[in-house]
Amino acid sequence: MKTIFPGTVSASGQPATLGVMGGGQLGRMFVHAAQRLGYFTAVLDPDPQSPAGRVSHHHIATGYSDPHGLTQLAALCDAVTTEFENVPADALRALAASRPVAPGAAAVAIAQNRIEEKAHFTASAGVAGVTCAPYAVIASAEQLKAVDADLLPGILKTARMGYDGKGQVRVANMAELAVAWAGLKGVPCVLEKLLPLKAECSVIVARGWDGAITGFAPQYNVHVDGILAVTAAYEENMPPALVLRARTATESIAQHMGYVGVLCVEFFVIDDGSSDGALVVNEMAPRPHNSGHYTLDACDVSQFDLQVHAMAGLPLPQPRQHSPAIMLNLLGDVWFDAAGQPRTPDWQAVLALTGTHLHLYGKHEARAGRKMGHLTITGADITGVKAIARQAAQRLGLPGLDALG
Ligand code: ADP
Ligand code: MG
Repeated sequence: MKTIFPGTVSASGQPATLGVMGGGQLGRMFVHAAQRLGYFTAVLDPDPQSPAGRVSHHHIATGYSDPHGLTQLAALCDAVTTEFENVPADALRALAASRPVAPGAAAVAIAQNRIEEKAHFTASAGVAGVTCAPYAVIASAEQLKAVDADLLPGILKTARMGYDGKGQVRVANMAELAVAWAGLKGVPCVLEKLLPLKAECSVIVARGWDGAITGFAPQYNVHVDGILAVTAAYEENMPPALVLRARTATESIAQHMGYVGVLCVEFFVIDDGSSDGALVVNEMAPRPHNSGHYTLDACDVSQFDLQVHAMAGLPLPQPRQHSPAIMLNLLGDVWFDAAGQPRTPDWQAVLALTGTHLHLYGKHEARAGRKMGHLTITGADITGVKAIARQAAQRLGLPGLDALG
C-alpha cells in the first residue's frame, strides 16, 4: 500500500481524498479528523441531510450498493473506510477492486453477523486468551428444539442488524424462547447465556497495512436499556490485570483477522467469585466506537485520527491520554421534558461547568434513544471530573453515572 500523504495533488490534479461509507456521527468525526490533516473527503450516504455528508467536500447521496455511487466514490477517493458495520460487504469488495479499503470486506462481514463473529472469537480464543459467552445458533426449528437448557435464562439476539440493544429479547425458559424467536420472524439468531455482569469495558486499537498496532487503554462503559450511557477513561478505572488482558486480547483478535483500520472490541467483566472478575468478549465493531469519543478531548491522538492514519498508510502513533475523562451520551430523550414536550436542553447551564466539551452531530430530529451528541468532561483528576459529570448529568437529566460509584 502506497502512503497517501495529506495535502498532495495527483498528476491529474486531484487533491488527496479519503472516502467513508456511511454518513452518521462517526463519519462526521472521521471527516473532521481527515480535513484537519489536509485531506479532502467524500461521504457515501443516501440521506441528503446526513451528519457527515453536510461537512464533507463531497457527498454522494446514493444507496450503499448503487454501482454508480460506488464508481463515483472510487473515482474521487485514494482510499475508503467505513463508519458502520452494516455496509454491504459486497460494496466494500467492489471498491477494493480499484482502491485500498480499510477495514476490508472480510473483516466487516464477520463483525456484521453475530454467528460469524462468535465463531471468530471462538477460533481466536487460544491466542486471545478470552472467549465469548456460551451460546447456540438458532436458525431452524430443529436448532430451537435442541437448545441446551443450560443457556437459559438467556438473551436471544438476531444475527444481523442489531445495535443499541435492538433485535434482542431476554428469555427465561424454553417457552419464552420459542415465542421470542417467532416474534423475531424466525430469522437466524444466537441465544446467549445471561451472564452475571460486574462491569463492561471496551478496547480500541488501530492496525496498519504493515501489521503495526497501537491503541488505547480499556474504557469502562455503563449501558442503560442496552444503549451506552457513560464511558469512564482514567488510570484506575479497572484492575491492572484485566486492563492488560483486554488490550492483549483485542490485539490478538485484530491480528487473527489480518485487520487494517480501527477496531473496537467490547468485553463483559463477569462475576466468577474472584476479586477482579473474569473477561468475556462480547462483540466487535469494525470502526471507531461511541466508547472512544472521549479520545477527541482527552488524548493527543483520537480514535478518528488513528482511522485516518491507518487507512492512508501513515505512521500509527501511540496515543497519550493527557486528562482523565468521562463521556456522557446525549440521546434524543434529553430534547423532551417530563411531560413529553419538545425542549432545547439547557446548554447554558452545562457549558458553564469547567472542563465540559459538547459535541452535537447536526441531526435535526430528536427521537427517544437516538444518539444526538455527547458531552465529555476532562479535568486534572478523576475526582474532580466525576463531580462535574454528576452536575452535568443532573442538569440534563442523564442516567448511568451512579454505576461509577
Ligand atoms: P448491541 O449490538 O445492541 O450493542 P450487545 O450484544 O452488546 O448488543 O448487548 C447490549 C447490552 O446488553 C450489553 O452491553 C450488555 O449490557 C447487555 N448484554 C448483552 N448480552 C448479555 C449477556 N449475555 N449477559 C448479560 N448482559 C448482556
Ligand atoms: Mg454492544
